Parts: sequence; structure tokens; C-alpha cells
Amino acid sequence: MIFLDSAATTPVRREVLEAMWPLLTGDFGNPSSHHELGESAKRALDGARTSVAAAIGCRASDVIFTSGGTESDNLAIKGLALAEPRGRHIVTSAIEHEAVLESVDYLKRIHGFEVTVLPVNSEGVVDLEKARAALRPDTTLCTIMYANNEVGVVQPIAAIAELCREHAIPMHTDAVQAAGWLPLGLAMLGVDALSLSGHKLGAPKGIGVLIVKGRRSLEPVLHGGGQERGKRSGTENVAGAVGFAHALALAESDRVERAERTARLRDDFVVDVMTRVPDAIFTGPALDSDGGADTNVMRQTASGASASASASAPERLPNNASFCFPGTSGESLLLELGRAGIICSAGSACAVGSDESSHVLIALGLGEAIAQTAVRFSLSGDTTAEQLATVAAEIETAYRAVRSLSG
Ligand code: PLP
Repeated sequence: MIFLDSAATTPVRREVLEAMWPLLTGDFGNPSSHHELGESAKRALDGARTSVAAAIGCRASDVIFTSGGTESDNLAIKGLALAEPRGRHIVTSAIEHEAVLESVDYLKRIHGFEVTVLPVNSEGVVDLEKARAALRPDTTLCTIMYANNEVGVVQPIAAIAELCREHAIPMHTDAVQAAGWLPLGLAMLGVDALSLSGHKLGAPKGIGVLIVKGRRSLEPVLHGGGQERGKRSGTENVAGAVGFAHALALAESDRVERAERTARLRDDFVVDVMTRVPDAIFTGPALDSDGGADTNVMRQTASGASASASASAPERLPNNASFCFPGTSGESLLLELGRAGIICSAGSACAVGSDESSHVLIALGLGEAIAQTAVRFSLSGDTTAEQLATVAAEIETAYRAVRSLSG
């Protein structure tokens, strides 16, 4: 099997499982319990929080453990918007994940918020001038994703955050796909809130993180026992939090080298696919004109203060290669590739049983028919050149087979 669907999920890393194991067995206490077992669990949770804060460059008290990216996005958007007294207007983009778009829609339907959805250009990038024009005195929140799950486009987050800061508007970014590939430093990004998900990083499903800078107030979404400083009630997933912290630290430890190596492999793969199937459309940001990935954006560190790298969009996630194959269907190609032992995705795997065209590709200006022919390949740090050469050859075979069937 060749697994090229890392944007959908990743396996749990052995080191992560080993770090979690004691918290699931002997050291299984509830961190709210006032006995040795509870206090031990609380120490483990505090340690995980400190470790995540170090990786992000924030205070430990800014870290809220959640059940995953979806909950982090929901809590950030509903929590910040409902706690902010200045108005009822939200700015977002047309290519956000459903967890963001549906949370924004909830605020619109139930709480009467007005929403400005920023369009993107043909590479998927939000226009800064349009963002500037959208911000109003009554804007309560701007939420723009760091990197897109379908076409890998990296938004100029630092520049958008700067616009928001000028108007004292809270800014949230969904960094679920960026984690492990792009720098997450809060100071460099300049945002107030940032969502992460464990299972994209080598931690298990069911654990996530929301960072919210301390000075921002947050209305809880889950009410109950007041855990996570009252911001997210529910007995903490201690083992998950420890696993998340380990996975993030591991991902950060070799991020720059891994991202550069993966981007080079991805670039060669894209050239190979486009040579074999000249009619294919490479969706999202073009590769750099020198043929290599621009790695400036990957090189920032958690403490890095420079905003300029993010302003030089469009960048692309180093592990994303997404195409449309006109005259086919993404689902048929997926089946053919699956027969050859290749696991990838038709668009994104994040919406259950949806056969609608991707709202992301439509926003990039591709028609409904072309959008139905999308296939996304998302590499991991373990993907090899040999695997990608096999996949490129199988794509050509699958393309010819599906084309000949569809006449
Ligand atoms: N945001 C983005 C950009 C994603 O790609 C995903 C999942 O694919 C999510 C949010 C949701 O994360 P989770 O699966 O942890 O709920």
C-alpha cells in the first residue's frame, strides 16, 4: 500500500503511543481528583500544556485542549464572536473547512450575525485589499485558514492579522493542515487564536488544541465542570493531551528538513504527472518558477518575529499535490488507484458522504464538471521518490482506463 492521504489523517507515532500508555493504564487518574492518582494526572496534563505552549510560543494558560480540529474551530468562532461586544459581523474566506463555514453559518442563523465571505484568486489566495475593505467597526471576528486542506494554498496570515490588529479585531486561524509543515509561532503569525488537530500530526483522533491569547475573552461552547479554566468543560483527555504534546514536539524537531525534502519530492512528482497526463490541471498555487518549492515560509521558528515570509503568498503546503483530470471522475480514478494499492482522496475527506463539487475548487474558478475530477495526493515525511514514481505511472494508467470507459 502507498498511503498518500496524510491530509485526511496520519497513523499514531510509536513514541506518541508510548508516552500515552502510562496515562491509559496505571496512571489513569482524573486531573480534578484530590488524591495522588488525580494529582499525577494533573501534572501530566500541565506538562503537556507547557510543552504545547513552548512549541507555539504562547503562555501555558492560552492552551485549551479540545476533541479535535472541528471543536477547536467551533469554540474559537462561536466563543470569540459571542464574547465580543463590538458588533455582529464576521469575515471569513470562501475556501475554509466546513468546521469554520458551518460555525459561521450557525452564528448567522441563530444569532443574526452578518457574514462577509472573502473570495480567492485562481490559486486560492485571499486578496489583502479585499480583506482590508471587508473589516468594519462592528466586525467581531476574522477567521481565515492558514493552509487549505484541498489545494494546499497558504494564506498571508501575518498580513491579514496586521490589518485586524489595526482595528483591534480578533483574528483566528485554522492551522490544522499547517501543523507539522509550517511554522506555528503565534508572534510571527500575529493571530489571537489558532486551531490544531492531533490526528493530522501523529497523535490519535479525538484530541485537538485551541490557542486563545489570554487577553481575549471566550464564551464557552461546552458547559459543565469548568475544566480548562472554564473555557471547555469535560474531564480532560489526559493521555490524548500528552500524546498531542509529544507529536507536536516531534513534528517540530525535524520540520524544516522534512518540509524541504517533501516539497522537493512533491515538485518532481507534479512534473512527472503533468508530463504523463498533459491535460491534467494542477490546482492551487503553481510551483515556483525555478521548479523548486519556496522554503522561506517553512523556515520561520516559533519565536521568529518576521511577518514578511507569509506576506509573499502564494505558498503551498510542502506535502500537497492536487489535480483535476478533465474527462474523468475523481471517484473512478480513486477506485482505479485503489486497485493498484494507492490511497489518496477525491478532493477532501472531511465531509461525510458528500458528492457535491468541492466549494474550494469552485471558489478557485473551476467549473462544477472539472471540480468532479479532482484528486488530492498528500505526502507524509516517510514518502519516497520510488513510491511517487510508481504512483505517477499508475495515475497515467488509471487516467487512460477511466478516459476510455467514459468514451
Ligand atoms: N480544519 C481543517 C483545515 C481540516 O483539514 C480538518 C480535517 O480534515 C479539520 C479542520 C477538522 O479536524 P478534525 O478532523 O480534527 O475534527
